[in-house]
Amino acid sequence: MPMTRLTGWGRTAPSFADVVRPASAEAAGRAVAEAGPRGAIPRGLGRAYGDAAQNGGGTVVDCTALDRIGAIDDAGVIEVGGGTSLDTLARATYPQGWAPPVTPGTRFVTVGGAIASDVHGKNHHVDGSFSRHLLDFTLQLPSGEQRVVSAERDRAVFDATTGGMGLTGVVVSARIRLRAVETRYVAADTRRTRNLADTMVALAETDGTQPLTAAWIDLLCGAREVGRGIVRSGHAAPLDALPAPLRAGALAYAPAWRPSLPVDAPNAVTSRTFVRAFNALRYRRAEDRTGQIVAAEAFAAPLDGVGALHRLYGAAGLIQYQCALPRGEERALDDVVHSLAAMDAPATLAVLKRLGPGAGAPLSFPIEGWTLAVDFPAAALPAVRVILDRLDRRVAEAGGRVYLAKDARMRPEVVPLMYPRIEEWRAVQASVDPEGRLTSDLDRRLRLTAGSRR
Ligand SMILES: Cc1cc2nc3c(=O)[nH]c(=O)nc-3n(C[C@H](O)[C@H](O)[C@H](O)COP(=O)(O)OP(=O)(O)OC[C@H]3O[C@@H](n4cnc5c(N)ncnc54)[C@H](O)[C@@H]3O)c2cc1C
Repeated sequence: MPMTRLTGWGRTAPSFADVVRPASAEAAGRAVAEAGPRGAIPRGLGRAYGDAAQNGGGTVVDCTALDRIGAIDDAGVIEVGGGTSLDTLARATYPQGWAPPVTPGTRFVTVGGAIASDVHGKNHHVDGSFSRHLLDFTLQLPSGEQRVVSAERDRAVFDATTGGMGLTGVVVSARIRLRAVETRYVAADTRRTRNLADTMVALAETDGTQPLTAAWIDLLCGAREVGRGIVRSGHAAPLDALPAPLRAGALAYAPAWRPSLPVDAPNAVTSRTFVRAFNALRYRRAEDRTGQIVAAEAFAAPLDGVGALHRLYGAAGLIQYQCALPRGEERALDDVVHSLAAMDAPATLAVLKRLGPGAGAPLSFPIEGWTLAVDFPAAALPAVRVILDRLDRRVAEAGGRVYLAKDARMRPEVVPLMYPRIEEWRAVQASVDPEGRLTSDLDRRLRLTAGSRR
């Protein structure tokens, strides 16, 4: 069978794999069990930026056909297939007055991908990451065994899987506790800030009052203004907050499909000059506002408004540097922000957010404090690799970490410094996959599993 070329969202480091798309949990199990010596890895919608859902020379189990959606019970619990996208889930649940509990910056991720990366959304400081809203999930193990895993009954495997980057098995279904909503809208506030310190103060203030917050920040402005930005915060809009014309269809969730960029954009679009001008315009045009009614999906995932946005970066693709730093390490955050701002590579998009307490799972990314995510063209990577390696160390020394779901370039030596409980994770991973059948390009690059280090 011909192999398929795969990349992550960043379109860097392509590799070729034998892609299978099982229609049942049993077939997913067989695909892993029958994989050749290069093993297998599950894949959702390929929204991880780097190589997490790739397995060069091996098998990739495309889970998107595992997309069954069950009924919602009175407590708001729904059972869905691991390949169901959060977009599909939202379309099914909003009309019934329920919403997915956590939505990352794109709704085009699968439930299995959301569990494997233990994703966070703009409500992390209040609601935590995806794993907090799971009653249990069914894991297809490489042995062929299907195991229902919950935090109460099997904490070790639950924690190894949430954030475990697909390396403990295929999540074939999950039971999720949804959030009750009166409408599909958010009542949003906008506040413009003058510099990084001002943005951090605004985020800390809005965290106390609003369950949804994040800030776009500008890294390409004058040195004294670096980190100025637009803080967007909000909460689910109750029915009586809607203007009368919106009330009748308050729960009618049907975001339009937007056309994708049909071709790669010219490099000029991500040049420093262009992005600097774009940022200045965006900043100037922002106005402080309160209680603006916006569609929930536009608030949670504004980038979904343009399909295939990664094509803006041309064939070379894009890199995202996303780190988390603990509360109290604001100087380290300041250093990281200013170092990224001074880099030769233009920071095309930068988002700062506060995180609430972490989930306590060994590889789950969020920790209480701050998270910063910065995109830049991958073409600039050779020029900035040394700076990013230095920032990895700075982040690790401060007790922080880089997000595995976004990484495409980190070195393996820093992983144990960032994720100090990785040995504990390795032991559980080896217990569910003793023959080392599950592996990925990310696993081999960062030497995550014990098997990848042999
Ligand atoms: C524009 C954009 C914005 C984003 N914003 C955020 C954000 O705000 N917060 C955040 O946390 N993340 C964010 N992400 C990252 C994204 O949420 C994660 O990478 C997520 O894991 C992608 O899900 P996916 O279905 O596309 O999985 P893939 O990218 O296909 O795979 C990701 C990982 O999940 C594993 N996996 C996939 N399916 C299964 C399964 N059924 N069983 C077991 N493992 C599986 C894979 O092996 C891989 O390790 C963003 C990504 C993009 C492109």
